[in-house]
Amino acid sequence: MSYLMPNYAPLAVTFVKGDGCNLIDDKGDIYLDALSGVAVTGLGHAHPKISKVIQSQSQKLLHTSNWYQIQHQETLAETLCKLANMDGAFFCNSGAEANEAAIKITRLHAHANQIDNPIILTAKQGFHGRTMATLSATGNSKVQAGFSPLVSEFIHINFNDIEAIQAYENNPQISAVMLEPIQGESGVIVPDDNYLNQVQDICHKNNWLLILDEVQTGIARTGKMFAHQYNQITPDVLTLAKGLGNGVPIGACLAKGKAAKLLTPGTHGSTFGGNPLVCRVALEVLDIIIQDNILHNVNLMSDYITARFTDQLKNVDSVLQIRSKGLMIGIELNKDCSQLLQQALDKKILINITGRTIRLLPPLIINKEQANKIVDTICQLVKEL
Ligand SMILES: *Cc1c(COP(=O)(O)O)cnc(C)c1O
Repeated sequence: MSYLMPNYAPLAVTFVKGDGCNLIDDKGDIYLDALSGVAVTGLGHAHPKISKVIQSQSQKLLHTSNWYQIQHQETLAETLCKLANMDGAFFCNSGAEANEAAIKITRLHAHANQIDNPIILTAKQGFHGRTMATLSATGNSKVQAGFSPLVSEFIHINFNDIEAIQAYENNPQISAVMLEPIQGESGVIVPDDNYLNQVQDICHKNNWLLILDEVQTGIARTGKMFAHQYNQITPDVLTLAKGLGNGVPIGACLAKGKAAKLLTPGTHGSTFGGNPLVCRVALEVLDIIIQDNILHNVNLMSDYITARFTDQLKNVDSVLQIRSKGLMIGIELNKDCSQLLQQALDKKILINITGRTIRLLPPLIINKEQANKIVDTICQLVKEL
């Protein structure tokens, strides 16, 4: 029996070690990781440079609290703000917490504009986390089931439907639009090319904040440092987590202009958030991404993997659509495929199934040989389904 609460249902495998794109279990079997701990370990497992900074920082200083200045936190804030064209950063420990900060910023923005009961427009099938506010923002009844009463300020609109947002333009309570640039948890849903540009225009016109949740799409995952850079727009608030620490827990809420000034002393905080260790690691992650030209590999491998899937699955009836942006890849089938999770594991590959979509989030450092193994194994399993 287990003393863990039964909120997860883990597969029957225990990994004890990792090495680049591989994971090794307690029996010594080697698996290819095509999931990266859900878009977290983009630079692979046991990256030598990351191990080294964890060791050296732990020998200096792990934690002091935010009641004192933290040099690595200042540097990380500056680095992220310059990369994302933002003006201010708040650090926390997860994606949900980054979105909580974004929601609190929206309330301050609304109250500064005499809106007493602000509403945030969010998308159906979106995912923003598991805290009470972020699960209320999440447009998925499965995530919300059992947890009523929800935080009531969210209205869920259809994703990639600009008219659905326009319909709220004369509602004086709306204060923000909060979206993932590409919906991850619901199966790599990529909107039309100019959707986010249109959303930004509406937000500007109405003094609404544009909050982009790049917890999954950020940090080079989609072939740009941030997915919204495909649209050449600048959100008012940008949330990050997953890939930022390569496995060390860190979240960030970045903001631009007026939105970056709203959290004043005493209004928000986190004991662990932005401690010297996690900030040092995140700085190393960003440095490796730039020094090793990781974006080049992401785009190369994205094109390669997508082309191979498209070719091998072109005459397979069960395949409805292959979607990809960088190394976020979704293969949607016309039938249930939940058994593929265990079947892929038996073939020593880690994947994810969400609804009827096979979702792949391979490490950003994946090579052609590893990509071939993933594509060939999945195509074989899909054909046999
Ligand atoms: C994973 C995810 C979150 C939640 O992040 P946690 O670190 O699990 O709290 C929020 N938004 C998006 C888009 C995510 O993919």
